[in-house]
Amino acid sequence: MNTEQANKTIRVGVLGFGGLGQAAAKLLAGKREMILVAAADQKGYAYTAEGLNTQECIATYQSQGSVGYLEPVGTLSNNSIQDLIATSQPVDGYFLALPNLPNDFISFVAKQFIESGWQGVLVDAIKRTSAVEQLLAMKDELEAAGITYMTGCGATPGLLTAAAALAAQSYAEVHNVEITFGVGIANWEAYRATIREDIGHMPGYTVETARAMTDGEVEALLDKTNGVLTLENMEHADDVMLEVAGIVGRDRVTVGGVVDTRNPKKPLSTNVKVTGRTFEGKISTHTFTLGDETSMAANVCGPAFGYLKAGRQLHQRGIYGIFTAAEIMPQFVK
Ligand code: NAD
Repeated sequence: MNTEQANKTIRVGVLGFGGLGQAAAKLLAGKREMILVAAADQKGYAYTAEGLNTQECIATYQSQGSVGYLEPVGTLSNNSIQDLIATSQPVDGYFLALPNLPNDFISFVAKQFIESGWQGVLVDAIKRTSAVEQLLAMKDELEAAGITYMTGCGATPGLLTAAAALAAQSYAEVHNVEITFGVGIANWEAYRATIREDIGHMPGYTVETARAMTDGEVEALLDKTNGVLTLENMEHADDVMLEVAGIVGRDRVTVGGVVDTRNPKKPLSTNVKVTGRTFEGKISTHTFTLGDETSMAANVCGPAFGYLKAGRQLHQRGIYGIFTAAEIMPQFVK
């Protein structure tokens, strides 16, 4: 491959056009190195080699419920991901901003890519340990297919897991990693999958019961808690990612947080605390705290595309398979 090809703009597709998908499209609109050529939601997809118009995509999705209605580049489909892949249009990498409901949906989508013969970079912001484990188990298939898959590349897991991996370097032994997140969103409807998946972590709920809840039932639950979800000891893939990276055993990693669904102000500052022992025998804690003004969308979509760029560089060097946010440094997208 010559330098000109290697440096060309990365053609990106976004699968899922809800809260995160739309934020991803807005973020890409300000980038030179990446161009949004494809978007898909549950009812359709849109593709154009020249780059989709972000505002038009969002307006169409919000008024008609699918980017498939976008004239003349949209196509309506109840099998949008499969149909988009089948068009064989050139896309270098996809960000999977999809709900992982059921808990094996993202691995099912990854299988669709493997079977299609498409080659490129896939990035997810998946959250559960068991979901990341399903993907890690697909390493050989991904490698054989020529796909470079970057998993757990949102905020947590993602940015905070990577920060923990970096902080661990000061220590001879890492004792524990404690992630606490605060999320503030104006209304839960903007991020339905995120909120449903969070409910699935609450005592008495599972992924399946949360998935089966109607919007009315979610609202009734949120009414009881004044719109606030408090989550403790979550099954979060930061643990398996830090374990696989050889940094700390999964039982030493804890994740919890508070989500306010009625106020964009964060209920607490998102942070990761990494405690360990230095080679001199000192016990210490590094703390990395995100700025309160940064939204969930900024802290998920920024890293996702940073990892997509890093994945692209690996792919161009013929390195395929699966990598987590704790193993690879994201690249800054200009
Ligand atoms: P959302 O509910 O707002 O939107 C989901 C989108 O996916 C919709 O556009 C819907 O049409 C589309 N979709 C659903 N099924 C589909 C299918 N079969 N084919 C094509 N499109 C389909 O979701 P959201 O709140 O933006 O969350 C997306 C994901 O991001 C969730 O899984 C959430 O857990 C994850 N997330 C991760 C982090 C992190 O830090 N790692 C943070 C927040 C959210």
